[in-house]
Amino acid sequence: MKIGFTTSLPVEVIFAAGHTPIDLNNIFIQNNPIIQVQKAELSGFPRNICAWIKGMYSIIKNTDIELMIGIVQGDCSNTHSLMSILSDENKKILPFSYPYNKDKNDLDKEISKLEEYFNVSRKQTQEVKNKLDNIRKKLILLDELTWKENLVTSFENHLWLVSSSDFNGDYIQFEKDLDNFLINVKTRDKKPSLNNKIRLAYVGVPPIIEDLYDFIETLNARVVFNEIQRQFSMFYIEEDIVEQYFKFTYPYSVFDRIKDINNAITQRNIDGIISYTQSFCHRQLDYISFKKHISIPILQLEADQPQKLDARTKLRLESFIEMLG
Ligand code: SF4
Repeated sequence: MKIGFTTSLPVEVIFAAGHTPIDLNNIFIQNNPIIQVQKAELSGFPRNICAWIKGMYSIIKNTDIELMIGIVQGDCSNTHSLMSILSDENKKILPFSYPYNKDKNDLDKEISKLEEYFNVSRKQTQEVKNKLDNIRKKLILLDELTWKENLVTSFENHLWLVSSSDFNGDYIQFEKDLDNFLINVKTRDKKPSLNNKIRLAYVGVPPIIEDLYDFIETLNARVVFNEIQRQFSMFYIEEDIVEQYFKFTYPYSVFDRIKDINNAITQRNIDGIISYTQSFCHRQLDYISFKKHISIPILQLEADQPQKLDARTKLRLESFIEMLG
């Protein structure tokens, strides 16, 4: 079965059951996202609802994905209504929760429920996890080649890390592609001039703006830390699956995220932060905590529809990077 999901979850279980996990966000953004949003709006989705929710709805409606796992705790309250709409349209849905209280036993129970549904033992889950961890170690290397060696671009870093939420549905092929990419990257010329560029962190959900990273690299700057994308890559390499998803900062308190961001600021020598939020998203409120607990300059960006950067946002980015310089 092709199994869609609304944000990162223990894909190990889905792979262990012999199914294909599909991160609905990744499929949406790669397949005519403007059209997908319009289709949802024609079905009655309001203008002022997040475009990712509309995109995921259209993908479920118009593809052969047989089951959608909705993350009902730790991601987005819109998912509840999305699941109601889809179940009313006879789509199969399944809930998964990251416990609000961040209790390890509760998380263990959630993973067990998923295993029971797919008829998979913990041993089978762990076996797949070991294979995925080998790939994740290579993603750590790719990340280091971004921030230590300047060999991987901001966009490449974003794309590889964000794609590791579902390994493009086929982790064997993903690993082969990654191996080829890493071989290729190591033959690239090192550009010492990149060391002088402004070093940025990108924090927040992945951008709906298609040319953000490319534009930043045309300025005197590069992104050396993609916060949430790196979280999706599960770089913790914990032995136990519960420990791994317990360390995942995205579904829990904003303060876990702030700790991770502040560590990266020091480790990666970051000059400034681009904090991105989607229009109509509750995560816009996180900016209040970021301003309070992060001491380097932050530029808050917001976008609504899948599109290229508008002139105003370009100007704001230019001014921010100039100011950092
Ligand atoms: S961007 Fe925000 S509103 Fe949109 S799906 Fe993600 S969490 Fe929900």
